[in-house]
Amino acid sequence: MKFAFLLFRYFPQSGLARDALAIAERLVARGHAVELFTGGWQGRRPAAIGVTVVRRRGWSNHRRDADFARHAPSAAVGCDALVGFNRMPGLDIVRPTPPLLILAPGAEYGPSKRWPPEHFAALARLEAARGCSVWLVGGPADRAFGAAIAGQANGAARDLTGRTSLAQAVALLSLADAVVSNDSGLMHIAAALGRRQIALFGSSDPRRTPPLNPAARVLTLGLSCSPCFARDCPLGHHRCLRDLAPATVAAALAA
Ligand code: SF4
Repeated sequence: MKFAFLLFRYFPQSGLARDALAIAERLVARGHAVELFTGGWQGRRPAAIGVTVVRRRGWSNHRRDADFARHAPSAAVGCDALVGFNRMPGLDIVRPTPPLLILAPGAEYGPSKRWPPEHFAALARLEAARGCSVWLVGGPADRAFGAAIAGQANGAARDLTGRTSLAQAVALLSLADAVVSNDSGLMHIAAALGRRQIALFGSSDPRRTPPLNPAARVLTLGLSCSPCFARDCPLGHHRCLRDLAPATVAAALAA
């Protein structure tokens, strides 16, 4: 099978690049072909692990990159949920009675991509009151958000941030009936898994980096200052995400 990765810019030190190449290396080791579509500098590592680099001038994006679009359907992540589930000793996870809502509160890019923890917590309380199991999933860098959300959710959310490998996080996402996330790597993984999902966009542009998933819905307020692409709000208020109410997201989930 051929897999294609699209990185708009390849920054070798970024967590996204590291994770993408770690996955790519394992796919190559299993006999799959992997192509990396990217602009900018790639260094030697992709070629060293057998990944074919398809160079792009400037910013690469899936809309204008017909080659990537052609490969995109084969890039969908396949995951045996039960196999993944059973490979998580130590997490003490009991498969919940559906529906399972997974919240992914992290976004490595910066605060202007992160819906406030108190909003995630309010959403968790709303969805738990409707009978959902709510899990928080994210990497080690998301532990503080997970702890803050779980603390404010008053027992409505189970915090698994920083407790899983990336592969385990993929397996957990594959179990979800719905996923709510920022514009982040886990958003794209949920899209590749075809999960029903709500993607929350603040300073970034959903026309450029949407979840490639027909079951996805993007929520963005479309403020006049948006998209600014800043990591932190240059106006100091983060209204693009702060004003996106938990009740609005809950209504989208219920629709
Ligand atoms: S300037 Fe506008 S779009 Fe950018 S982070 Fe602030 S509120 Fe969001």
